[in-house]
Amino acid sequence: MKVYLDGKLVDKKDAKISVFDHGFLYGDGVFEGIRSYDSLVFKLKEHINRLFESAHSIMLRVPLSKKEMIQAVIKTLKANGLKDGYIRLVISRGVGDLGLDPRKCKQASVVIIADRIDLYPKELYDKGIEIVTVPTIRNLCEALNPQIKSLNYLNNILAKIEAINAGCQEALMLDHLGYVAECTGDNIFVVKKGELYTPPQCMGTLRGITRDAILDIAKKNKIPTHEHVLTRHELFISDECFLTGTAAEIVPVVKVDGRVIGDAKPGKTTKAIMKEFKKITKTSGVKYTL
Ligand code: PMP
Repeated sequence: MKVYLDGKLVDKKDAKISVFDHGFLYGDGVFEGIRSYDSLVFKLKEHINRLFESAHSIMLRVPLSKKEMIQAVIKTLKANGLKDGYIRLVISRGVGDLGLDPRKCKQASVVIIADRIDLYPKELYDKGIEIVTVPTIRNLCEALNPQIKSLNYLNNILAKIEAINAGCQEALMLDHLGYVAECTGDNIFVVKKGELYTPPQCMGTLRGITRDAILDIAKKNKIPTHEHVLTRHELFISDECFLTGTAAEIVPVVKVDGRVIGDAKPGKTTKAIMKEFKKITKTSGVKYTL
């Protein structure tokens, strides 16, 4: 495996960064997770735009232009001969000293890893998963805005640990008022009477790129969509529920906090959206040849 590290493609065993890098010391940096399907990078521009927005928000100067970043992603996919890949793009603040001051970090580091990912076994996509509300709430927008995809994912990891402790694959995270925010690495949707609902960004919900793609699919298929405050009760009484994310794609949810959703099987709207999503991943995106 070849890893892109600060402009060079190096062997996996040589892909190392300093222990003085503030990404390592403090989680000071930003990242993206991107997928390619059959030599098409899905929503690449959208991911690069979000990466640059995250970097801008934390005042991290990206050493490449957006165009160069796109080329670097394609180069890494090609170097690894991957038609279907999962790309992890990381920009860390770079090497500094043991204090917090980011001004001591003179040069940000850019790492691009292209690999494969199977987040959940295939049967879970057919059967659906169970999720559980966890005590750890999503970061407050006023503290660490979830729109920033920062390297500090401890909030999400704590929630994931609590879900695993409760015997579930994924955690439902609420905001500080008890409203539904999102899951640890996915956005959440419900279907009620044929209409689609998902929490708005102001609830501490990342504006997921898959989430946007699903809202587009719904609009094209004349399914009414609502970015709306959701309570747990509304999840419990929904007809269908599913999660969306680049790595997870679309995961049907059949149980929330022990309450069965719909008829305990992935619903028909969810299945139709999954089918449509598969279609767009195969027909849109930035093309490359191996
Ligand atoms: N929420 C969180 C907290 C995430 O980490 C992710 C994955 N990046 C998502 C939602 C889904 O976003 P996307 O569809 O852009 O991958």
